[in-house]
Amino acid sequence: HPPVASDQTASFVSPVFKKTVSDQAFVTLATNDVYCQGALVLGQSLRNQRLTRKLVVLITPHVSSLLRVVLSRVFDEVIEVNLIDSADYIHLAFLNRPELGVTLTKLHCWTLTRYSKCVFLDADTLVLSNIDELFERGEFSAAPDPGWPDCFNSGVFVFQPSLETHGLLLQHATDHGSFDGADQGLLNSFFSSWSTADIHKHLPFIYNLSSNTAYTYSPAFKQFGSSAKVVHFLGSRKPWNYKYNPQTGSLLEEGSELVTQHQASFLKVWWGIYHGSILPLYESIRDEQEHA
Ligand code: UDP
Ligand code: MN
Repeated sequence: HPPVASDQTASFVSPVFKKTVSDQAFVTLATNDVYCQGALVLGQSLRNQRLTRKLVVLITPHVSSLLRVVLSRVFDEVIEVNLIDSADYIHLAFLNRPELGVTLTKLHCWTLTRYSKCVFLDADTLVLSNIDELFERGEFSAAPDPGWPDCFNSGVFVFQPSLETHGLLLQHATDHGSFDGADQGLLNSFFSSWSTADIHKHLPFIYNLSSNTAYTYSPAFKQFGSSAKVVHFLGSRKPWNYKYNPQTGSLLEEGSELVTQHQASFLKVWWGIYHGSILPLYESIRDEQEHA
C-alpha cells in the first residue's frame, strides 16, 4: 500500500481532484452508429473509474435517433456538429478538401469553449484506471505514435478549447491539407514543436497503449504493460469487429495468430463493458418506449 506521507502530499497539492470539476471534460467523437458503440464503451469505462469531469460526445447528423438516446444515458452532453451549416470558413474548408471530413469534425472539439481544458479520446480507446492527472498537463500534450515516435498519436490528447485555435487549425487544413489525410497528420504539422519543445507535453505511452503493437517490444510490455491506463485499438480492426461469447467470456478468434494474448485480454475488457453495461441500456430504452 502507498505510504501515508505521499497520500497527504497528493491531497494537499490537488484537493480539487476529489470532487467534480465542471469546467473540464473528457471528449470523444462518433460520426456514425458503429463508432457510437466505441464511444459508449469508452464513456462507461470512464464512469467506472470515479469520474470527476464532464463527459462529452460530438456526433454528426448521420447518427440515428436511437443512438442519440443511448449516448445521452452515458454522456453529460451529446453535441451535434454539422460541417455544412456551420460558419462560412468551416464550409469553405470542407468544400476545398472533402477528404478531410472526419478530420475537420475532430477539430470541432476546440469549439467547446464552455470548458477550460479537455482530454480528447478516440472512440476506439478504453480507459482502465482513473486518468484525472492528465488535466494537470497543458495544450498540446499527447503520447508518441508507435509507428513514428517523433510524431504524436492523436487518439489521446490534452487541449484547451479556443475559437481562435479552431480557426487557425481549419486555416492550416485548407492551406496545407494533412500529410496522412487525417487529423493526426494535420495536428502534428500544426503542433510541430511537440517532439522537441517540452517534455511535459509527451504523455507516457501508458496513456495511449496501442493494443496491436505493444507486443513488438515484449520485454517492455512485460515490464510496463500492467500499468496501462488507456488502451487504443488503433488500426482497421476495432473491438466491435470481433465476435464474443458472453457465456464463456471468450473471443471467437482467441488463440489464432490474428489476436495476441495481450490484445485478447484488452478486447475482453471492452466486450465485458459492452455486454454488462451498454446492451442493458438498449433493453431499458426499448422497454420505456414500449410502455410510453
Ligand atoms: N471516427 C468516427 N467515424 C469514422 C472514423 C473515425 O467517428 O468513420 C472518429 C472516432 O472517434 C475514431 C477517430 O475518429 O476513434 C479516429 O479514427 P480511428 O480511431 O478509426 O483511427 P485510428 O486510431 O485507427 O488511426
Ligand atoms: Mn483510434
